[in-house]
Amino acid sequence: MIPENQLMTMPNDQYIDFRSDTVTRPTPAMRQAMMQADVGDDVWGEDPTVIELEQVLAARAGMQAGLFMPSGTQSNLVALLTHCARGDEYIVGQQAHTYKYEGGGAAVLGGIQPQPLNMTAFGGLDLDEVEQAIKPDDCHFARTRLLCLENTVHGKVLPLDYIEQARELTDEHGLLLHLDGARIFNAVVKLGCELQEITRHVHTISICLSKGLGAPVGSVLLGPQTFINQARRWRKVTGGGMRQAGILAAAGLHALDHHIQRLADDHRRAADLAGHLMKAGFELDQPQTNMLFINSGQLPRQALASWLDDHGIKADCLGRDSIRLVTHLDISDADIARAGEVFTAFMRAHRL
Ligand SMILES: *Cc1c(COP(=O)(O)O)cnc(C)c1O
Repeated sequence: MIPENQLMTMPNDQYIDFRSDTVTRPTPAMRQAMMQADVGDDVWGEDPTVIELEQVLAARAGMQAGLFMPSGTQSNLVALLTHCARGDEYIVGQQAHTYKYEGGGAAVLGGIQPQPLNMTAFGGLDLDEVEQAIKPDDCHFARTRLLCLENTVHGKVLPLDYIEQARELTDEHGLLLHLDGARIFNAVVKLGCELQEITRHVHTISICLSKGLGAPVGSVLLGPQTFINQARRWRKVTGGGMRQAGILAAAGLHALDHHIQRLADDHRRAADLAGHLMKAGFELDQPQTNMLFINSGQLPRQALASWLDDHGIKADCLGRDSIRLVTHLDISDADIARAGEVFTAFMRAHRL
């Protein structure tokens, strides 16, 4: 239990920020790498650092080519615009980022219809339900083109054999399989596998550099060369053609070299925090990677949100039933210990 005088309101820069792994700031070494980057005009295909990032990541994923983009939202959107035409449809999870959290971009900009399905407990889609949702070739229906999965999904790792089965299904029906791999390296580190062991099952993947990897900006879309050539056009159309983007790509290259294995620390810290929270009496599942969700249905959520804010902790308390906490590059062991104390003190203060 921390003494009351240490539970005072914190200055803003001392908040422990568990809202997302997007809040990380570039490290001094990353800034150094950015400062020294060789650059050129990437819309002309002349930025050596962007080209290197695309090639390095494509090689790791066993894909032919890559395309650097400002955000994961744009990378997924460009993937959908490239795979699907107007009147096509993609099958996707109700809570998937590509359906729920990207402003409906595929429909807004591409005339592409989502077919959302409920997600299973492990974050995938039931493959029988997927099969039933595939529309027959009939002018009444949109043309089902693509299945879109997410990994990790709400902090959970899709099992490798599930992705393999999903690919068998899409092959059987002539569909494409796109993976929103915003946090794919969390899955790689958790499974202790190579990136290729996941990516060999999908046609295309989008990977974020600005989540747990700690780059300030950037995502890379990977796939076959012909796909990437077309995607390059859609990137320009959607305003994502950047010029001397090597400055940003250098941060991504630095992250690939230095910030992948350390994701295991984020996972361990999430597990440590979960331990503190369970001990304090909160309800939650054991986290698989860097995200944990407190079941907040029975909690005085408003009081908890203010308590956290008063005691220097930022968390995503927006959900109706859960509070999300995410560990990342800027969360230390000491932060976990302190957060454990603040949450425990809340339970005591409220006699919960
Ligand atoms: C963050 C995220 C994205 C892309 O987000 P941007 O903020 O646009 O980079 C896509 N999918 C998932 C699962 C994400 O968490």
